[in-house]
Amino acid sequence: AKQAGRGSVREYDYNFDTSIQDRFRMEQEIRLALDRNEFFLEYQPIMCTRTHRLTGYEALVRWQHPERGRIPPDQFIGVAEECGLIAELGEWVVRRACADAACWSNGLSVSVNVSPLQFATSDLPAVITAAVRDAGLDPARLDIEITENTLLQQGRQNMEILRSLRNLGAGVVMDDFGTGYSSLSYLRDFQFDKVKIDRSFIRDMLQQPHSAAIVDAILSLGKGLGIDIVAEGIETSEQLAYLEKRCCTLVQGYFIGRPGREIAEAPSESVLESL
Ligand code: C2E
Ligand code: CA
Ligand code: CA
Ligand code: CA
Repeated sequence: AKQAGRGSVREYDYNFDTSIQDRFRMEQEIRLALDRNEFFLEYQPIMCTRTHRLTGYEALVRWQHPERGRIPPDQFIGVAEECGLIAELGEWVVRRACADAACWSNGLSVSVNVSPLQFATSDLPAVITAAVRDAGLDPARLDIEITENTLLQQGRQNMEILRSLRNLGAGVVMDDFGTGYSSLSYLRDFQFDKVKIDRSFIRDMLQQPHSAAIVDAILSLGKGLGIDIVAEGIETSEQLAYLEKRCCTLVQGYFIGRPGREIAEAPSESVLESL
Protein backbone atom coordinates (compact mmCIF):
# COMPACT_ATOMS: atom_id res chain seq x y z
CA ALA A 1 0.00 0.00 0.00
CA LYS A 2 1.22 3.50 -0.78
CA GLN A 3 0.09 6.45 1.32
CA ALA A 4 -2.37 6.34 4.10
CA GLY A 5 -5.41 8.51 3.69
CA ARG A 6 -6.19 7.62 0.09
CA GLY A 7 -9.10 5.71 1.47
CA SER A 8 -10.94 2.78 0.10
CA VAL A 9 -9.53 2.97 -3.41
CA ARG A 10 -6.04 1.98 -2.31
CA GLU A 11 -7.41 -0.66 -0.09
CA TYR A 12 -9.45 -2.08 -2.91
CA ASP A 13 -6.39 -2.13 -5.19
CA TYR A 14 -4.37 -3.83 -2.53
CA ASN A 15 -6.95 -6.52 -1.95
CA PHE A 16 -7.34 -7.00 -5.66
CA ASP A 17 -3.57 -7.51 -6.05
CA THR A 18 -3.55 -9.95 -3.18
CA SER A 19 -6.30 -12.00 -4.65
CA ILE A 20 -4.47 -12.16 -7.99
CA GLN A 21 -1.39 -13.36 -6.14
CA ASP A 22 -3.46 -15.91 -4.29
CA ARG A 23 -4.87 -17.16 -7.55
CA PHE A 24 -1.45 -17.33 -9.11
CA ARG A 25 -0.13 -19.28 -6.17
CA MET A 26 -3.08 -21.62 -6.22
CA GLU A 27 -2.57 -22.17 -9.92
CA GLN A 28 1.00 -23.28 -9.30
CA GLU A 29 -0.16 -25.41 -6.42
CA ILE A 30 -2.78 -27.17 -8.52
CA ARG A 31 -0.13 -28.03 -11.06
CA LEU A 32 2.09 -29.41 -8.28
CA ALA A 33 -0.83 -31.24 -6.74
CA LEU A 34 -1.50 -33.05 -10.00
CA ASP A 35 2.15 -34.16 -10.14
CA ARG A 36 2.19 -35.15 -6.49
CA ASN A 37 -1.15 -36.93 -6.61
CA GLU A 38 -2.76 -34.84 -3.86
CA PHE A 39 -6.28 -35.10 -5.29
CA PHE A 40 -8.57 -37.92 -4.29
CA LEU A 41 -12.15 -38.96 -4.82
CA GLU A 42 -14.94 -39.56 -2.36
CA TYR A 43 -18.02 -41.51 -3.35
CA GLN A 44 -21.57 -40.67 -2.33
CA PRO A 45 -24.23 -43.37 -2.66
CA ILE A 46 -27.35 -43.00 -4.81
CA MET A 47 -30.36 -45.09 -3.79
CA CYS A 48 -33.38 -46.36 -5.70
CA THR A 49 -36.60 -45.64 -3.77
CA ARG A 50 -38.43 -48.61 -5.31
CA THR A 51 -35.96 -51.20 -4.05
CA HIS A 52 -34.23 -49.25 -1.27
CA ARG A 53 -30.98 -50.47 -2.78
CA LEU A 54 -28.01 -48.54 -4.02
CA THR A 55 -27.67 -48.06 -7.75
CA GLY A 56 -24.35 -46.24 -7.84
CA TYR A 57 -22.09 -43.56 -6.44
CA GLU A 58 -21.22 -40.00 -7.41
CA ALA A 59 -17.50 -39.27 -7.50
CA LEU A 60 -16.58 -36.00 -5.75
CA VAL A 61 -13.06 -34.64 -5.96
CA ARG A 62 -11.11 -33.36 -2.92
CA TRP A 63 -7.63 -31.99 -2.46
CA GLN A 64 -5.40 -33.08 0.42
CA HIS A 65 -3.07 -30.08 0.59
CA PRO A 66 0.21 -30.71 2.47
CA GLU A 67 -0.10 -27.53 4.57
CA ARG A 68 -3.66 -26.34 4.23
CA GLY A 69 -5.29 -29.71 4.76
CA ARG A 70 -8.38 -30.84 2.99
CA ILE A 71 -9.78 -28.41 0.40
CA PRO A 72 -13.33 -28.81 -0.99
CA PRO A 73 -13.94 -28.63 -4.75
CA ASP A 74 -15.77 -25.29 -4.64
CA GLN A 75 -12.44 -23.73 -3.70
CA PHE A 76 -10.32 -25.06 -6.55
CA ILE A 77 -12.46 -26.20 -9.50
CA GLY A 78 -13.08 -22.56 -10.50
CA VAL A 79 -9.37 -21.75 -10.36
CA ALA A 80 -8.53 -24.88 -12.34
CA GLU A 81 -11.06 -23.78 -14.94
CA GLU A 82 -9.62 -20.28 -15.17
CA CYS A 83 -6.01 -21.33 -15.47
CA GLY A 84 -6.56 -24.05 -18.02
CA LEU A 85 -5.84 -27.01 -15.74
CA ILE A 86 -9.38 -28.34 -15.64
CA ALA A 87 -8.85 -30.62 -18.64
CA GLU A 88 -5.98 -32.36 -16.91
CA LEU A 89 -7.73 -32.50 -13.53
CA GLY A 90 -10.95 -33.65 -15.19
CA GLU A 91 -9.17 -36.42 -17.02
CA TRP A 92 -7.56 -37.56 -13.78
CA VAL A 93 -11.04 -37.68 -12.17
CA VAL A 94 -12.55 -39.71 -15.01
CA ARG A 95 -9.65 -42.16 -15.05
CA ARG A 96 -9.58 -42.58 -11.26
CA ALA A 97 -13.36 -43.07 -11.07
CA CYS A 98 -13.37 -45.65 -13.87
CA ALA A 99 -10.45 -47.54 -12.34
CA ASP A 100 -12.13 -47.57 -8.91
CA ALA A 101 -15.54 -48.63 -10.24
CA ALA A 102 -13.96 -51.44 -12.23
CA CYS A 103 -12.86 -52.92 -8.87
CA TRP A 104 -16.24 -52.67 -7.13
CA SER A 105 -17.53 -56.17 -6.66
CA ASN A 106 -21.12 -54.94 -6.39
CA GLY A 107 -21.05 -53.83 -10.03
CA LEU A 108 -22.75 -50.50 -9.29
CA SER A 109 -22.31 -47.47 -11.52
CA VAL A 110 -20.21 -44.37 -11.05
CA SER A 111 -21.28 -40.82 -11.82
CA VAL A 112 -18.64 -38.22 -12.73
CA ASN A 113 -19.01 -34.44 -12.81
CA VAL A 114 -17.68 -32.74 -15.91
CA SER A 115 -16.92 -29.03 -16.13
CA PRO A 116 -18.34 -27.00 -19.03
CA LEU A 117 -14.76 -26.12 -19.95
CA GLN A 118 -13.88 -29.77 -20.45
CA PHE A 119 -16.29 -29.67 -23.35
CA ALA A 120 -14.43 -26.78 -24.88
CA THR A 121 -10.83 -27.68 -24.12
CA SER A 122 -10.60 -31.43 -24.49
CA ASP A 123 -11.92 -34.15 -26.74
CA LEU A 124 -14.24 -35.51 -24.09
CA PRO A 125 -15.50 -38.60 -25.97
CA ALA A 126 -11.89 -39.61 -26.70
CA VAL A 127 -10.84 -39.06 -23.07
CA ILE A 128 -13.75 -41.13 -21.79
CA THR A 129 -13.33 -43.87 -24.37
CA ALA A 130 -9.69 -44.26 -23.33
CA ALA A 131 -10.55 -44.13 -19.61
CA VAL A 132 -13.16 -46.92 -19.74
CA ARG A 133 -10.99 -49.01 -22.02
CA ASP A 134 -7.87 -48.70 -19.84
CA ALA A 135 -9.90 -49.44 -16.70
CA GLY A 136 -11.74 -52.33 -18.30
CA LEU A 137 -15.03 -50.77 -17.19
CA ASP A 138 -18.31 -51.45 -18.95
CA PRO A 139 -19.25 -47.94 -20.22
CA ALA A 140 -22.86 -48.66 -19.22
CA ARG A 141 -21.65 -48.30 -15.61
CA LEU A 142 -20.48 -44.72 -16.20
CA ASP A 143 -22.69 -41.64 -15.96
CA ILE A 144 -21.49 -38.18 -16.95
CA GLU A 145 -23.04 -35.25 -15.02
CA ILE A 146 -23.22 -31.91 -16.80
CA THR A 147 -24.97 -28.68 -15.88
CA GLU A 148 -27.35 -26.69 -18.02
CA ASN A 149 -24.74 -23.97 -18.35
CA THR A 150 -22.51 -26.41 -20.20
CA LEU A 151 -24.99 -26.49 -23.03
CA LEU A 152 -25.37 -22.76 -23.19
CA GLN A 153 -22.19 -22.17 -25.13
CA GLN A 154 -21.85 -23.69 -28.56
CA GLY A 155 -25.04 -25.57 -27.86
CA ARG A 156 -25.02 -27.42 -31.13
CA GLN A 157 -21.48 -28.69 -30.85
CA ASN A 158 -22.04 -29.78 -27.27
CA MET A 159 -25.15 -31.71 -28.26
CA GLU A 160 -22.91 -33.63 -30.68
CA ILE A 161 -20.55 -34.43 -27.83
CA LEU A 162 -23.46 -35.67 -25.70
CA ARG A 163 -24.56 -37.89 -28.56
CA SER A 164 -21.12 -39.45 -28.87
CA LEU A 165 -21.02 -40.06 -25.10
CA ARG A 166 -24.34 -41.80 -25.42
CA ASN A 167 -23.10 -43.79 -28.42
CA LEU A 168 -20.18 -45.13 -26.49
CA GLY A 169 -22.63 -46.43 -23.89
CA ALA A 170 -22.26 -43.93 -21.04
CA GLY A 171 -25.28 -42.30 -19.37
CA VAL A 172 -25.77 -38.54 -19.55
CA VAL A 173 -27.18 -36.74 -16.51
CA MET A 174 -28.38 -33.14 -16.33
CA ASP A 175 -27.08 -31.85 -12.98
CA ASP A 176 -28.35 -29.00 -10.77
CA PHE A 177 -31.52 -28.79 -12.81
CA GLY A 178 -33.46 -25.61 -12.25
CA THR A 179 -30.59 -23.40 -11.14
CA GLY A 180 -28.80 -22.63 -14.40
CA TYR A 181 -30.04 -20.90 -17.48
CA SER A 182 -32.71 -23.54 -17.71
CA SER A 183 -33.91 -24.30 -21.11
CA LEU A 184 -36.51 -26.97 -21.56
CA SER A 185 -35.41 -27.25 -25.18
CA TYR A 186 -32.33 -29.18 -23.99
CA LEU A 187 -34.66 -31.81 -22.61
CA ARG A 188 -36.54 -31.81 -25.88
CA ASP A 189 -33.47 -32.02 -28.10
CA PHE A 190 -31.50 -34.60 -26.17
CA GLN A 191 -32.64 -37.72 -24.36
CA PHE A 192 -30.96 -37.41 -20.97
CA ASP A 193 -30.78 -40.58 -18.91
CA LYS A 194 -31.36 -38.72 -15.67
CA VAL A 195 -32.08 -35.24 -14.42
CA LYS A 196 -30.94 -34.13 -10.97
CA ILE A 197 -33.07 -31.67 -9.04
CA ASP A 198 -30.79 -29.16 -7.39
CA ARG A 199 -30.24 -29.48 -3.66
CA SER A 200 -31.61 -26.01 -2.94
CA PHE A 201 -35.14 -27.07 -3.96
CA ILE A 202 -34.96 -30.21 -1.81
CA ARG A 203 -33.67 -28.19 1.15
CA ASP A 204 -36.60 -25.79 1.01
CA MET A 205 -39.46 -27.91 -0.30
CA LEU A 206 -41.03 -28.76 3.07
CA GLN A 207 -41.03 -25.12 4.16
CA GLN A 208 -41.59 -23.27 0.90
CA PRO A 209 -44.59 -24.07 -1.26
CA HIS A 210 -42.79 -22.59 -4.26
CA SER A 211 -39.90 -25.02 -3.93
CA ALA A 212 -42.33 -27.90 -3.47
CA ALA A 213 -44.21 -26.84 -6.60
CA ILE A 214 -40.97 -26.81 -8.59
CA VAL A 215 -39.96 -30.25 -7.28
CA ASP A 216 -43.41 -31.61 -8.18
CA ALA A 217 -43.21 -30.06 -11.65
CA ILE A 218 -39.78 -31.54 -12.35
CA LEU A 219 -41.02 -34.95 -11.19
CA SER A 220 -43.97 -34.86 -13.54
CA LEU A 221 -41.76 -33.57 -16.33
CA GLY A 222 -39.53 -36.60 -15.78
CA LYS A 223 -42.53 -38.88 -15.90
CA GLY A 224 -43.76 -37.35 -19.14
CA LEU A 225 -40.37 -37.50 -20.79
CA GLY A 226 -39.46 -40.94 -19.47
CA ILE A 227 -36.41 -39.64 -17.62
CA ASP A 228 -35.38 -40.79 -14.15
CA ILE A 229 -35.30 -37.92 -11.69
CA VAL A 230 -32.61 -37.86 -9.02
CA ALA A 231 -33.16 -35.75 -5.91
CA GLU A 232 -29.95 -34.65 -4.22
CA GLY A 233 -29.27 -33.22 -0.78
CA ILE A 234 -31.75 -35.30 1.22
CA GLU A 235 -30.97 -34.77 4.89
CA THR A 236 -34.12 -35.93 6.69
CA SER A 237 -36.57 -38.82 6.67
CA GLU A 238 -39.37 -36.30 6.03
CA GLN A 239 -37.72 -35.16 2.81
CA LEU A 240 -37.23 -38.77 1.74
CA ALA A 241 -40.87 -39.60 2.53
CA TYR A 242 -42.11 -36.62 0.50
CA LEU A 243 -40.09 -37.71 -2.53
CA GLU A 244 -41.00 -41.37 -2.24
CA LYS A 245 -44.66 -40.49 -2.10
CA ARG A 246 -44.25 -38.68 -5.42
CA CYS A 247 -42.38 -41.58 -7.01
CA CYS A 248 -39.01 -39.90 -7.26
CA THR A 249 -36.94 -42.91 -8.32
CA LEU A 250 -33.44 -41.95 -7.25
CA VAL A 251 -32.26 -40.18 -4.12
CA GLN A 252 -28.97 -38.96 -2.74
CA GLY A 253 -27.97 -37.00 0.35
CA TYR A 254 -26.49 -37.17 3.82
CA PHE A 255 -29.59 -39.04 5.07
CA ILE A 256 -28.84 -41.89 2.64
CA GLY A 257 -25.08 -41.65 2.89
CA ARG A 258 -22.26 -39.15 3.09
CA PRO A 259 -19.44 -39.05 0.59
CA GLY A 260 -16.61 -41.32 1.72
CA ARG A 261 -13.41 -42.88 0.53
CA GLU A 262 -14.67 -46.39 0.97
CA ILE A 263 -17.78 -47.73 -0.66
CA ALA A 264 -19.99 -50.32 1.01
CA GLU A 265 -19.21 -53.41 -0.99
CA ALA A 266 -22.10 -55.36 0.46
CA PRO A 267 -24.08 -56.28 -2.62
CA SER A 268 -27.53 -54.78 -2.88
CA GLU A 269 -29.07 -55.20 0.56
CA SER A 270 -31.64 -52.62 1.54
CA VAL A 271 -29.95 -49.40 2.58
CA LEU A 272 -32.81 -48.17 4.71
CA GLU A 273 -32.54 -51.06 7.16
CA SER A 274 -29.12 -49.79 8.12
CA LEU A 275 -30.20 -46.19 8.57
P1 C2E B 1 -22.64 -31.20 -7.06
O1 C2E B 1 -22.28 -31.91 -8.31
O2 C2E B 1 -24.00 -30.60 -6.99
O3 C2E B 1 -22.39 -32.25 -5.88
C1 C2E B 1 -23.18 -32.34 -4.74
C2 C2E B 1 -22.57 -31.63 -3.57
O4 C2E B 1 -23.49 -31.65 -2.48
C3 C2E B 1 -21.30 -32.26 -3.03
O5 C2E B 1 -20.49 -31.22 -2.50
C4 C2E B 1 -21.83 -33.14 -1.91
O6 C2E B 1 -20.86 -33.45 -0.93
C5 C2E B 1 -22.90 -32.24 -1.35
N1 C2E B 1 -23.96 -32.99 -0.66
C6 C2E B 1 -24.39 -34.24 -0.90
N2 C2E B 1 -25.43 -34.57 -0.09
C7 C2E B 1 -25.66 -33.48 0.67
C8 C2E B 1 -26.62 -33.19 1.72
O7 C2E B 1 -27.46 -34.00 2.08
N3 C2E B 1 -26.56 -31.95 2.26
C9 C2E B 1 -25.64 -31.02 1.87
N4 C2E B 1 -25.64 -29.85 2.48
N5 C2E B 1 -24.73 -31.27 0.89
C10 C2E B 1 -24.75 -32.48 0.30
P2 C2E B 1 -18.95 -31.13 -2.82
O8 C2E B 1 -18.35 -32.50 -2.82
O9 C2E B 1 -18.35 -30.10 -1.94
O10 C2E B 1 -18.93 -30.64 -4.33
C11 C2E B 1 -19.38 -29.35 -4.67
C12 C2E B 1 -19.43 -29.19 -6.18
O11 C2E B 1 -18.10 -29.26 -6.74
C13 C2E B 1 -20.21 -30.28 -6.88
O12 C2E B 1 -21.58 -30.01 -6.76
C14 C2E B 1 -19.67 -30.16 -8.28
O13 C2E B 1 -20.28 -29.10 -8.96
C15 C2E B 1 -18.22 -29.79 -8.04
N6 C2E B 1 -17.39 -31.01 -8.17
C16 C2E B 1 -17.14 -31.99 -7.29
N7 C2E B 1 -16.34 -32.93 -7.80
C17 C2E B 1 -16.08 -32.53 -9.08
C18 C2E B 1 -15.30 -33.09 -10.17
O14 C2E B 1 -14.69 -34.16 -10.07
N8 C2E B 1 -15.25 -32.36 -11.33
C19 C2E B 1 -15.93 -31.19 -11.49
N9 C2E B 1 -15.85 -30.54 -12.69
N10 C2E B 1 -16.68 -30.67 -10.51
C20 C2E B 1 -16.76 -31.32 -9.31
CA1 CA C 1 -23.11 -33.59 -9.49
CA1 CA D 1 -25.91 -46.88 -17.16
CA1 CA E 1 -26.01 -29.53 -6.91
